[in-house]
Amino acid sequence: MPVSAVATDSAVCAPLPVLGRDVLVPLVTGGEVGYAALDIAASAPALQRVWDDVAAYAPYYGSVHRGAGYLSQLSTDLFENSRAEVARFLGVREGDQVVFTRSTTDSLNLLAAVLPADTRVFVFETEHHASLLPWEQRADAEVTYLDAPRTPEQAVDTLERALAEREPYRHALVCVTGASNVTGELWPVRELAAAAHAHGARIVLDAAQLAPHHPVDIAQLDVDWVAFSGHKLYAPFGAGVLAGRADWLQQAEPYLAGGGASRTVARRADGGVDVEWHTTAARHEAGSPNVIGAYAIAAACKALTEAGFENLVAREQHLVERVRAGLAEVPEVRVLSLFGDDAPRVGVLSFVVRGWNSSHFAAALSAEYGIGVRDGLFCAHPLVRTLLGAESQAPGECGAPEGAPGEKSLNAIRVSFGAGTPDEHVDRFVRAVKELVADGA
Ligand code: PLP
Repeated sequence: MPVSAVATDSAVCAPLPVLGRDVLVPLVTGGEVGYAALDIAASAPALQRVWDDVAAYAPYYGSVHRGAGYLSQLSTDLFENSRAEVARFLGVREGDQVVFTRSTTDSLNLLAAVLPADTRVFVFETEHHASLLPWEQRADAEVTYLDAPRTPEQAVDTLERALAEREPYRHALVCVTGASNVTGELWPVRELAAAAHAHGARIVLDAAQLAPHHPVDIAQLDVDWVAFSGHKLYAPFGAGVLAGRADWLQQAEPYLAGGGASRTVARRADGGVDVEWHTTAARHEAGSPNVIGAYAIAAACKALTEAGFENLVAREQHLVERVRAGLAEVPEVRVLSLFGDDAPRVGVLSFVVRGWNSSHFAAALSAEYGIGVRDGLFCAHPLVRTLLGAESQAPGECGAPEGAPGEKSLNAIRVSFGAGTPDEHVDRFVRAVKELVADGA
């Protein structure tokens, strides 16, 4: 049943269903006529627990590492404890560093900036642009783009072959996502890491979509670095993480030059300036860091750990099955997948609807049913074009509507959900898809 009035201004806190714990999620509204936020993959609403922690600290924040003042000391403690909490969440190894960044995009650009000279980079064309594009920023890096695999095993074979063909090299890096932001499919991270290491390469995991849904343990996955964003992990915007091997981070010039990154600065006799840079994570955190953002990420890590990933995964898989089963009843709907419709995935599904422009379909879901989904190419243009079989078509702006009514849809629709998504929201989504398809474009 279409919803005529969509309330968007009355933020209420609804108890997280099923978990039965005191983890609360702010939903814009929880009822039948409430707004169903099903674009969690873009940004997840912050957990109430995160807001509470941040609100408790907010009156006391000060700049970190700035002397003996009480608030600076307090903030420094909270900032460094947040780093330790994230380290625990990721199961980092002895000697690894946790660098606070602005986002996953920032984390991967930082890693690109610190690559040793002439590093060979291997990346699947299926990656989000944040993992696909930073490497070419390094003029000395040779980037090999790997074709989209059609099974997880093929992904490993493709990588192994590409690594073997390009040996010998001094330094190589593989960049891979843990869960696709387009299909939600899980990638064989451990196997890809083993292949990379067998060929003397390192591997960075883009965990932007994986970390909110599954435990990410650096040591267990045996990846060299992990990158993720706070705003997808049920914390607010503005902070992210790059965690992993310290050596490349320490050997490179600081990502940004400035206070905080420098240990000592002194004029030289010849008039120039000598700088000794920190060799800790601070080397790449110049300027006044986003202490609140780091604190919020740590609060989210703690809340997810306490809620238990086994509960979160079970709850999410229940929703995935509900959506999958519902969409399977609509022959006009094609769910996009690389590894097959039944491949394991997180709560992210993209699809197209025969006879519909995807942007118009998404607009109808919003206007008529109060359901917010994403439409576009999801900042993964090569992947979406491969999935749609539309390689020759011109790219649109990332996420921008394309095409006119009646034209072939060049983009797709993505529905995504996670902790705190009630059954009613996904049920309303499935019902809306059925009704819109029955009514026609
Ligand atoms: N990687 C993946 C898989 C993503 O889904 C996203 C965002 O959608 C990013 C990287 C970039 O994250 P951010 O925009 O927070 O930098």
